[in-house]
Amino acid sequence: MRLLPAAPGSGIVFRRIDADVEIEALWHNTVNATLCTMLSNGEGIEIKTVEHLMAALAGCCVDNAIVELDAAEVPAMDGSAAPFVALIDRVGTVTQEMPRRAIKVLKPIDITDQGASVALLPDHGFSMGFEIAFENPLIGSQDMMLNFEPDTFRAELSRARSFGMLDDVERLKAAGLVQGGSLENAIVISGDRVLNRGGLRYADEFVRHKLLDAMGDLYLAGGPIIGHFRGSRSGHAHTRMLLAALFADREAWRETTLADTPDLPAIAWRERQRARA
Ligand SMILES: [Zn+2]
Repeated sequence: MRLLPAAPGSGIVFRRIDADVEIEALWHNTVNATLCTMLSNGEGIEIKTVEHLMAALAGCCVDNAIVELDAAEVPAMDGSAAPFVALIDRVGTVTQEMPRRAIKVLKPIDITDQGASVALLPDHGFSMGFEIAFENPLIGSQDMMLNFEPDTFRAELSRARSFGMLDDVERLKAAGLVQGGSLENAIVISGDRVLNRGGLRYADEFVRHKLLDAMGDLYLAGGPIIGHFRGSRSGHAHTRMLLAALFADREAWRETTLADTPDLPAIAWRERQRARA
């Protein structure tokens, strides 16, 4: 994978150099996929697992970039967004001659589906909340809310890794859905134990990764969202349905620029976090 600069207003564009196809990183170019967010050109060319890179681009305020790939999947790296953030920080970013486009949520939109729910609500800045509840005793119930300031993503979410149960990893491997060394690109749990050497990076790394995933999926709106996202036991498919519902309702959003919302940086950073065993 290579990240390249792009002209103002071009957005994030994925380019499959092995297939000579470009796909814009937008919600209406996504298709249903198992366990990841996948872009498709509608003619069989796909790009899997865009969510952690999209979260890194969102967190680093990168509006315009070309993502070159020579395969159908973004490299898994360590299962988090941190390696992408480190690479973006190493080369740096420039301010371009165009205000940042943003999507302002004007009225609540929600999706409820088989015990999971997602919602977008009006807010002055960008904030997110997520709760998970797993039967697994190590994960259990976790709840976190974040108001985003410039470094919130880097500090609070970027290092949180994907996770899976050992039994599931074995099953997915047998089905050909995951390849390679799983301990290198995800937290693997067996019962109440983390099998990775070094354990967890945050005590509540699981809910933080769910926030990271949702942030990456929401960036498929085509720019930062001004609003509050709330997820409960939800996954990529729900966030995808939520964006479709938002954009289907012309009264639920409007396009704006961050220059038009001077109160955005003034939102106080606060964090509420409950971990219930
Ligand atoms: Zn993920």
